[in-house]
Amino acid sequence: MLNLVLFGPPGAGKGTQSQKLIEKHGLIHLSTGDLLRGEISQGTELGLEAKKLMDEGTLVPDEVVIGMISNKLDANKDAKGFIFDGFPRTVAQAEALDGLLDSKGESISRMVALEVGDDELENRLLLRGKDSGRPDDANPEVIRKRIKEYNDKTAPVAGFYKKQDKFKSINGIGSIEQIFGAIDKIIKTY
Ligand code: ADP
Repeated sequence: MLNLVLFGPPGAGKGTQSQKLIEKHGLIHLSTGDLLRGEISQGTELGLEAKKLMDEGTLVPDEVVIGMISNKLDANKDAKGFIFDGFPRTVAQAEALDGLLDSKGESISRMVALEVGDDELENRLLLRGKDSGRPDDANPEVIRKRIKEYNDKTAPVAGFYKKQDKFKSINGIGSIEQIFGAIDKIIKTY
């Protein structure tokens, strides 16, 4: 299996690049943000709980997202591989993911990090908020909170994969095709 963690702050372009990777490599896309928004639109209890936290830019509890990922791994046993987008977002989530994959005789192949500075992120998210309809993209205060959550809780996840010699970082500023080319080069070396 080719199991990629696509890493980077909110607005780095993970979703855009995931779509292109799915098309080219036939991987299954697992975005915890999308899964949570799915729960919200279905009006589930989990969705109701998550919505409060997401709207203020706070991470939802580890066990909630780990449970969702575990279900998706079980439901896609014959996949060629997975792209993890927006997960793992804490070191505890990364440890849990290693455990889930290990129990299936699988592991993470690579983490690819998209590097984008804070000012550019804020601009991109505000722009996206104009038509995405995502409440967490519309408000500068919430955007800054999400970037702070990223720096405090998520950035350390890079160290987790560096220790396993799986971490690669690329410039997240440039055309969509340029960035995709850089990711694809990393995949080819795997
Ligand atoms: P982005 O990366 O663009 O901010 P996402 O769609 O990945 O957006 O996530 C939106 C929100 O969903 C996050 O701010 C957080 O509240 C919640 N969320 C998504 N994935 C996770 C996760 N792995 N752990 C905790 N919270 C998460």
